[in-house]
Amino acid sequence: MEWINEDSVLTVVPAPATACGKSCACGPKRPAAAPVPVGVLTQEARDRHPCFSNNAHHIYGRVHLPVAPACNVQCNYCNRKYDCVEESRPGVTSSVLSPRQAVAYLANVLQRRPEIVVVGIAGPADPFARPELTLETLDLVRREFPDMLLCLATNGLGLPPHLDEIARIGVSHVTVTVNAVDPVIGARIYGWVRDGIRVRRGVDAAQALLEKQLESISGLKARGVTVKINSIVLPGINDEHIPQVAERVAELGADILNCVPLYPVEDTPFATLESPSGSLMARVRKQAGTWLPLMIHCKRCRADAVGLLGEGLGSIDAEMLQAYSRMPLAPEENRPYVAVASHEGCFVNQHLGEAEAFWVFEKTDDGIRFVESRTAPERGGGDVRWVRLAEVLRDCRALLALRAGGSPRSVLEGAGVKVIETEGVLQDAVYSVFDGRKIPSPVRRGGCADGGCKGGGGGC
Ligand code: SF4
Ligand code: SF4
Repeated sequence: MEWINEDSVLTVVPAPATACGKSCACGPKRPAAAPVPVGVLTQEARDRHPCFSNNAHHIYGRVHLPVAPACNVQCNYCNRKYDCVEESRPGVTSSVLSPRQAVAYLANVLQRRPEIVVVGIAGPADPFARPELTLETLDLVRREFPDMLLCLATNGLGLPPHLDEIARIGVSHVTVTVNAVDPVIGARIYGWVRDGIRVRRGVDAAQALLEKQLESISGLKARGVTVKINSIVLPGINDEHIPQVAERVAELGADILNCVPLYPVEDTPFATLESPSGSLMARVRKQAGTWLPLMIHCKRCRADAVGLLGEGLGSIDAEMLQAYSRMPLAPEENRPYVAVASHEGCFVNQHLGEAEAFWVFEKTDDGIRFVESRTAPERGGGDVRWVRLAEVLRDCRALLALRAGGSPRSVLEGAGVKVIETEGVLQDAVYSVFDGRKIPSPVRRGGCADGGCKGGGGGC
C-alpha cells in the first residue's frame, strides 16, 4: 500500500511483502537477532543505552513512540497542550500514534537512522494510563525488531499489574519519576491521582502514588530490569528532600538517579516557580549522589524524540510522524471506507451515540462516492453496542462524528476504526481523511485526548 502526502515531497511506503508472505506495515526487516529475554541481556547490550550510559550517548540513539495519550496523574508542573517542534521537554509530541501506526513509523525511522538502538515509550502522557496501547506496541516492536532495546518512562502508578508482562516482552530499562517519598511533600506536587476509577487528592493521592512507585521499583528489580529514577527538582518544594528520595530508591535497588531541573510551563500551578539555579542543582546532585550513581547528561527529551540524546524531532522525522498518524490505525489492513454520523449526508453534524445509521463513503478516481447506509446497533448494552458497531464498520478506516464519548472511542479504535470529532462539510472532511491530510479548519474540531486537559481526573 502506498500513502502519499500531496502537500509535500513526503512519500510513505509501508512495506513490501515480508518473509511471512503477507503485506506488512513493518517494512523490510533489519538483520534479525534472537529475542533477548531481559534477564540474559549482556552488560555490553545494556551499556548501549544512551540514557543509562555516559559512554554511549554520543554513539547510540533512541526513538520515542508517542503512543500514550492519557495520564492518570496531574503533576503540577505538566501541561501537554503545547506542541512546538522547537520545544524539547517531556510531554510534548507532534502527533499520537496507534500501536500499529507506531510500528510502521518505526520501520521507516530505523531505515534512515542506523544509530538507533533503543525504542522508548515516554509519553506524551503515561504509558500505563492506557496500558493496552503500550503493551501492544511493545509486543509488536519486540516481534518485528528483536534486536532493539526497549525502554519505558512512567510515573509508576499503573505499572505493578503489568510487571510480569513487561519482563516477558523484554523491556530492559524503565524510568520511574519519583519526586517525593513523603506524601506531605507529594501532596504539593500532584493535583490529583486516578487510581482505577477513583480520583484522589492531597496526601491520600500522594500516598497512593508513592506506594505504587515503590512497588514498581522493587518489582522491576526483582525481574532484572535496569531502573532509572527521575526526580524533578522543584525549588522550595522538594529540593531539600531529593536526597531522601535517593536513599529510599537506592534501598530498593534502583540503578541510577537523574535529578531534572524544573522547566516551568505555562498554564500550570508551577508556572511561576523558578528553575533551580546551577548551584542548587549542584548541591542536590552532590547530596543525592552519595546514595546512587547520577545521570548528568539528560536532555529532557520530547515524547517523539528521534536520534542521539539532545536531538529533538527533525523536520523529516516530524513530517513522517504526522504522515503515519494520519494513516489508518492498522496500516496493513484493507479498510477502503470512511463512515460518517450525519443527519442528512451533507454535513458532519451528529453525535456518534445519537446516530441510527452511518453514511459510508469510498474514494474513486472520480472523487468521493456514497456506498451505502449502515444501521447502527440498538441503544443500550454498554460497550456491547460499540463492539457491535466496530463489527458493522469493520472495513472502515475512520468514523467522523460531531462528538464521541470515551467508551465508543476506545472500543472502536481498539478494533481499528479511528474516531475523529469534526463538523462541517462532509465531503471536505472525508476527502481529508482519505488523503491523509489534516481536516482543515473550520471543518476540524480539536480533540482533547492528547491535549493538556486539566479536568477533574475522571477521564473524558
Ligand atoms: Fe505527570 Fe502525567 Fe504529565 Fe507525566 S504526563 S508529567 S505523569 S501529568
Ligand atoms: Fe528511555 Fe527516557 Fe531515554 Fe527515552 S529518554 S530512551 S524513555 S530513558
